[in-house]
Parts: sequence; structure tokens; C-alpha cells
Amino acid sequence: MSLTNEQYDSIMREYDRIRNRNARATAEKQKMLYAKFPEIKAWENRAVTLKVREARLKMEGADERQIEDVENEVTELLVNRMALLESNGLSNEDFEPIYDCKYCKDTGYVYEPDGTRYKCHCFKDREINILYNQSGIRQLLKTENFSKLSFSYQEGEDLERLKMAASVCKNFVETFDTEYKNLLFNGTVGTGKSFLSCCIASELLETYHSVIYLSSISLFDILAKKQFSKDGADSAEETGNLYDCDLLIIDDLGTELSNSFVASALFGLINERNLKRKSTIISTNLDLRELGERYSERVLSRLTGNFIFLQLTGKDTRMLVK
Ligand SMILES: [Zn+2]
Repeated sequence: MSLTNEQYDSIMREYDRIRNRNARATAEKQKMLYAKFPEIKAWENRAVTLKVREARLKMEGADERQIEDVENEVTELLVNRMALLESNGLSNEDFEPIYDCKYCKDTGYVYEPDGTRYKCHCFKDREINILYNQSGIRQLLKTENFSKLSFSYQEGEDLERLKMAASVCKNFVETFDTEYKNLLFNGTVGTGKSFLSCCIASELLETYHSVIYLSSISLFDILAKKQFSKDGADSAEETGNLYDCDLLIIDDLGTELSNSFVASALFGLINERNLKRKSTIISTNLDLRELGERYSERVLSRLTGNFIFLQLTGKDTRMLVK
């Protein structure tokens, strides 16, 4: 479950392509701006000449006033440039290079001042996408977001529950970086559990968080492969993303095969994420009593102690929408 060399290279090639594309777009944009405002190019050239002169004057120990005159002219050029841009609804930023990711400048890595580097969120995102086969869900997330949430299919108490859950979900997103929270959606098919999880995932991906969305069946499949593979002991790092991504969404807990491995793997996962203060969202058809019976009392106590319980009821809106 870690990237193969081939997968790593394909990510790096993608960054190459993005950098090339953006370099071309930047050159194109600058060419257009300079053509539209030829005086800016002239001012920039003049500023370079003045900077050289200033350096020379300083080296020669020239008169303070002479140096000041040069500096004033440079400032004047900058002021002129700013004024011209502003009067055309532009700013200096419009001349800056274009990047898809401003954090790593489309290299995949962010460098600390001491030279150490770490993977950028956009690299992690690509890694998760490949390792956990997330491209399907990413496609879905483009269409499922809070703006599509409809309250017109439920009524009465069902509607109140949905409204409450929606407001908790919006708050979950808004406070994601400052407050540690977990959500447990309980409800029958089509009452909005997965939809609300998708809305949250979609918003958090937009704001550069690492999100893994897995059906319960896929999740335990991955964990079992790691546990029972020959090199299981060495592969702790390989499923690391599951334990430390910003948000893990487990969809439809209870649909996987029930056995003692699943119960202990779930406890390990929830417990470790809790220690790391990494949020988890679980959706399930099972009620608390059933969860306790199926996954043990210690799992239940983690859920009741650390998760906000949201119950959804009502009609199967998936059927109604269709
Ligand atoms: Zn990046």
C-alpha cells in the first residue's frame, strides 16, 4: 500500500506537466500585459539600471544625496507602476508566476529554511488518490456539496433531524482546524448520511485537507491485507494514511463481514486517530446497542465518548430523487 516506483514517477511526471503548462501560461500572460502596458517594461528596465547605479554609488562612497536621488526615482517608478495597474483593475500579483499549488510551486515538496523537505498536501492528496482508489469518490464529490442539500423531501421530526445534522456538519467544517470532533451518523438507507459525509469531504478537500473516504468493506479489506500479508510487520507505514489523514470517512459500517479481526482493527484505528486528534466520520445503519454487540464494549465506549451522534430518519430520498 505504499507507492511503487512507477506510481511515484507518474506523480512526478504530472508535476512536470503542470509546471510546463503554468510556465507557458505565465509567459503568455506577462507577454500580454507588457504589450498592453509598454511603459511598464520601460520602467522595469529603468529600475534595473538605477539599481546598478545605486550599488555603484554606494561602493564608490558617493554623496548621500546622490544615492537618495536614485532611490527616490526607483520609488517613483514603483508608485507609477502601481497607479497604472490599479487604474486598470490590476495589481503586481497579476505579473506573478501561475501555480496550481502555491505551497509547493507545483513540485510536490515544501522546503523548510534548513533544507529539510516534506510532502506537500497536494502530493499527499495524489498519493491517497492512488493508494486508496479515490478517483471515483472525488468525481462524486464534485456534485455533492452543501449547495445541493434539499430539505424538501423530509417532513416533521425527520426534517428537524436533517436540519440539525446539516448545521452540525457545516459547523464541523467551519471549526475543523480549531476544534477536534468526530461524527457518527446513524440512519436507514437514503436519509442523507453519505450525502452529508460527502459534503464535508468536498469542502475539506477544497481547503487542502487530506481526506480518505472508504466503504467499510474496502477499509477492512485494506487492513486485513496489511495484517495478514507476509510482510505485515514491516508495512505499518504503508497504511499510515488511514491513521493520520486529516479526515477518515468510514461509510456503511456494519456491512463488512463480522469477525474478531474487524472488531480489534476498528478499535485500533479509532483509538489511534483519537490519540492523534484526527477526525473520523462513521455512517452506519446500526444503533448504539448493535454497535456494542458487534464491535465490543470498548469500541462502543470510544464512540459514545468521542463522537457526536447524529440520527437521521425518514423516507429514502435516493428513491425520491430518482
Ligand atoms: Zn503542493
